[in-house]
Amino acid sequence: HLDIAERTANRLGAGIKEQTVHAVDGVRLNIRGGEVMGLVGESGCGKSTLGRMVAGLSEPSDGRILYRGQDRSAMSRAEARNAALKVQMVFQDPMSSLNPRLRVRDIVGEAPQVHGIVGRREVAAYVEDILEQVGLDPSTAKRYPHQFSGGQRARVGIARALAVKPDFIVCDESVAALDVSIQAQVLNLFVRLREEFELTYLFISHDLGVVEHISDRIAVMYLGRLVELGAAEDLLKQPNHPYTEALVAEIPTFETEKRIYSAIKGEIPSPLNPPSGCHFHPRCPHAHERCRKEVPVLKEVAPGRLSACHLNDEA
Ligand code: SF4
Ligand code: MG
Repeated sequence: HLDIAERTANRLGAGIKEQTVHAVDGVRLNIRGGEVMGLVGESGCGKSTLGRMVAGLSEPSDGRILYRGQDRSAMSRAEARNAALKVQMVFQDPMSSLNPRLRVRDIVGEAPQVHGIVGRREVAAYVEDILEQVGLDPSTAKRYPHQFSGGQRARVGIARALAVKPDFIVCDESVAALDVSIQAQVLNLFVRLREEFELTYLFISHDLGVVEHISDRIAVMYLGRLVELGAAEDLLKQPNHPYTEALVAEIPTFETEKRIYSAIKGEIPSPLNPPSGCHFHPRCPHAHERCRKEVPVLKEVAPGRLSACHLNDEA
């Protein structure tokens, strides 16, 4: 069993911020400071659950979340409060996560005031500044959420997260509700903000095309387990795991703008009663006897590339 977090820590040495997630199945995911880690998989694979745990919105039943090398559950209250502010979440549907009765100046300005980041007299200017940074006119501070388009609301959601000066943002399907052209604009905003504010992202999406656009590394999840992890470009050019291969075949080609479905056969099995051995075996074109019996272990198959498939031992 490969300990990703430890390996990464060794390679990076001291002084670089580390954020580590233990998934419930014992797999570790280490997100390096300043990187964009894409997390893909079909709905129900556990990626949102993982994201919520990283953002501190739910607790792992077993396992730990380390923020800058520190176990969050072992922190003092002041440290935990600070860590909670530093890791923010941007949700899929801003309409349901923005209070419809509040003006944008209150939606964006409330948390930084509560946490003493900005005083009452400076908050109006503070909010206007953030709105400009996310590409909204400062005069929109007086508007309510329903007075914005979908793309603008996405920007308000991002402004709210930015207002408390985070260093890590969990983006859960943050552009999924938007038209493709608006998606590209908001993705570009994420790219710019990352550079400007030295942010780290965990970028969760069911859409590999979206994740490809923004990620340095990509982690692929299937039914609660990490099945492949690697540098974004390599992983897409040369997927190792049969599940990643099937996902890659579904990325729309830009010449035709039509999706070529490789048709991953069968339905996603219930996470409550996952298949034995390799969870992917009922849908995998390469499944063989061993796959039904034995859980494939995530291991290094090339430098920086991890995959969990028996074929790697048998080649
Ligand atoms: Fe397919 Fe077997 Fe590899 Fe699972 S372990 S992905 S079923 S070949
Ligand atoms: Mg989800």
